[in-house]
Amino acid sequence: MPSQHVLVLNCGSSSLKFAIIDANQGDEILSGLAERLGDESPLLKYKYNGTKQQLSLPAGSAHQVAILQLVTLIEQLSLTNQLVAVGHRVVHGGETFTRSVLVDEGVIAAIQATSTLAPLHNPANLIGIEVASKAFSDLPQIAVFDTAFHQTMPKTAYLYAAPYRLYREHGVRRYGFHGTSHYYVSEQGRQILGLTKENSRIICAHLGNGCSVTAVLNGQSVDTSMGMTPLEGLVMGTRSGDIDPGLIIFLSQQLGYSMAEVDTLLNKHSGLLGISELSNDCRSIEEAAANGDAQAQLALDIFCYRLAKYIASLVVPLGGLDALIFTGGIGENSDLIRANVLKQLQFLGLDCDSEKNTAARFGQAGVISSDTAKTVALVIPTNEEWVIATDAARLAQEV
Ligand code: ADP
Repeated sequence: MPSQHVLVLNCGSSSLKFAIIDANQGDEILSGLAERLGDESPLLKYKYNGTKQQLSLPAGSAHQVAILQLVTLIEQLSLTNQLVAVGHRVVHGGETFTRSVLVDEGVIAAIQATSTLAPLHNPANLIGIEVASKAFSDLPQIAVFDTAFHQTMPKTAYLYAAPYRLYREHGVRRYGFHGTSHYYVSEQGRQILGLTKENSRIICAHLGNGCSVTAVLNGQSVDTSMGMTPLEGLVMGTRSGDIDPGLIIFLSQQLGYSMAEVDTLLNKHSGLLGISELSNDCRSIEEAAANGDAQAQLALDIFCYRLAKYIASLVVPLGGLDALIFTGGIGENSDLIRANVLKQLQFLGLDCDSEKNTAARFGQAGVISSDTAKTVALVIPTNEEWVIATDAARLAQEV
């Protein structure tokens, strides 16, 4: 098959991740990150042909400058002519987008309209679309949404028990995130295990800086742990996940917190960082716990307990469980967290083969439960960029 190179752009609030992926083979031709955008000394780091390089960007450079620098780099590396499309990761698609779409003015307006639900992310994603559309005006631009895969959730799973008018008038409901990752690993898992799409019950745990679990029934998301925003659900690096909503009232009324301070407390100062009072980085916490730091151990214990509890609750919409998949930086690399969670879920027929579990660290997909386990546990490295590239290449062909 001829190669189909797609430029994948992921504009965060102060960073730009990029890659050129061959949508047919999955090969990564170029990859990199522009970080500290808007700061004193922004950097653009990239990897090409196995070599890592880095370029300084002018002080205060924002996304526009980083993308234009990337365009120059792609031209210098003579990669422009091989591109067939630009694929954009867009965080929030609201209820409008149930799949990836070719970007036009209507799509841009709809993403703008959804920005109230993701005020930090969607505006940055739109800048990426706008600048790339000008820089690559002859290439189709495709938007791929984090929320799209979860649009199959039923009302029973996505509505909050709040006044219904909030949903009707303002779109207040659970949307779920990490959809591209959950879709990718659940499909991979189904294929590895030889399960048919019509008969598969899978739970995926995407554990990175943000963490979420999703129940995938017969190839469709039926429930997930993140909600209207990526704050709901599991314990994460710096995010609290579920709390009693009464805590917000307490912080405001008793401790005099402003809404901006509550936002920072729950999104940036909580989770593993908040409990350990040490770090948001799982590796550092594991090291500290191994050296006897009790707070670090407590952070890990709470992380694993909440995760196990959530996984068990997602068996309800599935009516049983064929496979549990771990992915993301923690899910793919931490044998300690996987073993802890699997131990708590033995009643679901899961177990942990310690040899396979410790070996499963090297970017390879593999089973980590024993041959006799009733329910299979797997590690599958996620590849969101490839999903974006394949969707973009497919839609580009339809133009
Ligand atoms: P993001 O959500 O930003 O894409 P990643 O998926 O890269 O993040 O996950 C980052 C997390 O993975 C960090 O908490 C990091 O400590 C953790 N991690 C990476 N390698 C290991 C490891 N060997 N053991 C434990 N945790 C790890």
